[in-house]
Amino acid sequence: MIWRKTWRNEISLAVRLLRRDGVVALPTETVYGLAASIKSEVALGKIFQIKGRPLLDPLIVHLLDYNWISKYAYIDGLRVNIKVLTDAFWPGPLTIILQKKPMIPAIVTAGLDFVALRCPAHEIFRKVLKYINVPLAAPSANPFGCLSPTTAKHVQDSLGDKIPLIIDGGACSVGVESTILDVTSDIPCILRPGAISASDIAQALKVPVLDHSPSTSSAVAPGQLKQHYSPNTRLILAETAEDLSLLVKNAFLSQTTEKAAFVYLKRPHDLYCANDIFWLSNKGDYFEVAKSLFDMLQNLDKAEYDVIYCQKAEQKGIGIAINDRLTRAAAKFAN
Ligand code: AMP
Ligand code: MG
Repeated sequence: MIWRKTWRNEISLAVRLLRRDGVVALPTETVYGLAASIKSEVALGKIFQIKGRPLLDPLIVHLLDYNWISKYAYIDGLRVNIKVLTDAFWPGPLTIILQKKPMIPAIVTAGLDFVALRCPAHEIFRKVLKYINVPLAAPSANPFGCLSPTTAKHVQDSLGDKIPLIIDGGACSVGVESTILDVTSDIPCILRPGAISASDIAQALKVPVLDHSPSTSSAVAPGQLKQHYSPNTRLILAETAEDLSLLVKNAFLSQTTEKAAFVYLKRPHDLYCANDIFWLSNKGDYFEVAKSLFDMLQNLDKAEYDVIYCQKAEQKGIGIAINDRLTRAAAKFAN
């Protein structure tokens, strides 16, 4: 059931469900999350079961603000000033890895000593957190390995029959998952790229930040699979707009029977095969591209295409996160 508009009722229903071992799909600014109270092992188990997610893949825990951290993780003796970090980026799409306290059950962290903490910015998620007054573990509200959900409809279409409540908070404003930053070692290190870049963090902390996300290095964080976020339709990436245009021209000239969709980052000048040409942002703004990326792939996946060709971004800023998601979405089809 998707609820709209009168959020007051939905929020109190969500809190009631979460207090009674239930799970609820909630909007965040990154993607829609499937939330459970960290106090309910039953509900936490449901997250893994509903998503078909392996128990080895740890969950991100969502907090209302900085003041909640010290109850759930150790922040003394770190090289990084967590207050400076959270003042700069919370609420927002930054997840911080810290050493966990016993309040965090092992199922959340896949048995690791470390927990991933985030403070979401979406008004609805924040209200639910405020009223329930307990952290909520929430991975993306989609079947494991599939495209991430950035609208309530995406959640309804893939998991609607398994979730008692989906609160519709509109399209997610960021559209890609949070940046994950490990601050437990000497130098802070990015494990998953997102809207907040290594240089944004380095600037706030005034220290260097390493980028060990799978798209920039061979180091692999727990749960960071090479193949993820995949559509069912074959997805092939083009390095540049020019490369994509060549594929378009070939398809146009060869009169192939294969039905292909072509996705540019920016509206192209030449519109050969116009019906099958798409773009993620009129002017090629990477934040707009990230916002529409999963929605575009979800829609094209449902349309009758044999193949989707998509242009990659330049490897800078949020472009790193866009390429990370695209590369892992396409990994299933590469051989
Ligand atoms: P999502 O499924 O988008 O919520 O992302 C959760 C991801 O966060 C996991 O797949 C891991 O990559 C990462 N993560 C969560 N907890 C930890 C942790 N304790 N240590 C390292 N990475 C983590
Ligand atoms: Mg996910």
